[in-house]
Order: sequence, then structure tokens, then C-alpha cells
Amino acid sequence: MLADNYHLIKTNIDKAARKAGRKPEEIKLIAVTKSATLEDTLEASKLGITHFGVNRVQEETVKVEKLPAVNWHFIGHLQRNKVKYIMPFYAMVQTLDRLSLARELERWAEKNDREIDVLVQVNISGEESKFGLDPKELSSFLDQARGFKRLKIKGLMGMAAFVNDPEEARPYFRRLRQLRDDSVAKGLALPELSMGMTNDYAVAIEEGATMVRVGRALFGW
Ligand SMILES: *Cc1c(COP(=O)(O)O)cnc(C)c1O
Repeated sequence: MLADNYHLIKTNIDKAARKAGRKPEEIKLIAVTKSATLEDTLEASKLGITHFGVNRVQEETVKVEKLPAVNWHFIGHLQRNKVKYIMPFYAMVQTLDRLSLARELERWAEKNDREIDVLVQVNISGEESKFGLDPKELSSFLDQARGFKRLKIKGLMGMAAFVNDPEEARPYFRRLRQLRDDSVAKGLALPELSMGMTNDYAVAIEEGATMVRVGRALFGW
């Protein structure tokens, strides 16, 4: 079943990319392991998935330890006291949304003698309940975050508002892409756009997503 789900998602990614005149290889599937079992997570890796997304640190440690060779992405709200657990294992933190967190990431990157890729999370839906920077603060935040030598800012991450029709998510994705393009126009290199989940990843790809974070459609919860 997992294999079937994976092939369907890959087909959909291909279709959405071609529809938008893009190459499917430009889009990374991030398998979100949330409520997936360890067995299913290992199975997903055997199928060839190389990027995994996690939104809670301690709950997912076993999975991370069993699969040291894949790329782990942290996609949840990150508390500063959890950064020390992230740093030895994760390739990327997708949810940088405040300077206090940037400082803590820099500090632990130094202790681990490494650099870490990050995405800046932007609250594109404007919902109070969602984390992420206010789009108005993005430009000055990027200026300040660039001062952290061990943080490699690769792009932006965002979530659409919850909508029934994926088409209604399109304006949110367009907004994030526009914010990225504005920053690029000011001379920043921000190649990655992490947007789109089970319900709306095809639309996100049409709007320029380079990473889609998919849980339910893959693991079937
Ligand atoms: C859970 C989660 C996902 C995956 O959502 P699905 O609808 O299961 O695909 C993606 N991104 C974030 C930040 C999540 O918390």
C-alpha cells in the first residue's frame, strides 16, 4: 500500500511539474512521518525516499536514529531547548521564525562544528494559530539572519490556510513565491520554496514549490 501511495504521489508530482513547464527533478518529496510507524518509515526509505520531515523532536528520535543516512528536516515549531537534539542529526530546519532561535541554532552548530541549512517560515495565511514571520517583517529578518555564519538560509517555508478546495490554496502559495522573488530581486539566493501538503501539493508545485511535505497521502493515516 505504501508503495502504491508513493507511486501515485510521484505520478502527481510529475504531472503538476509538466503542467507548469517545470522538471519533476526540481521537486523534492519530504515524507512527513508524524503518525507513521517505524516499520512504515523504514519501508519508505527502502522505496527510495531520501527526505523525511518531523514535527516533534523526542517522539521521532527512534526513527531518526534508525535512518542516519537520509535527510531529516525539522518542520514543526522549534523550541530553543530542543535545538541541541536536532543539531547532530538533521540536515535542515524549515521553521526558523525568530532571532532568538537563530542565535540558539548558531550556538549549537558551533558546538557541533557544522553548518545547518534553514528555511524561514512565513505566516502566509495570516492565521493567529499559525507560526511564522509576518510577511512584513521578512525583509529585515533576512538581513539580520544573514549575519549568522553557520546558518545557510536556503529559502522560505509556508502553509496555506485550511481550505476544502485545493484551488483556494493557490493565492497563499503565490504569495510565498512572490515574497521569495522579491528577496531574490534584492540579491539574496533563496532557491527553495517548501509549500504544499497532502491536499494541495499539486497546486503548490504549479506555483513553484521545490519541496512538498506529504504525510497522509503517503502513510495513509
Ligand atoms: C503534518 C504536516 C505536514 C503533512 O501534512 P499531510 O496533510 O499529512 O500531508 C506538512 N507540513 C507540516 C508543517 C505538518 O505539520
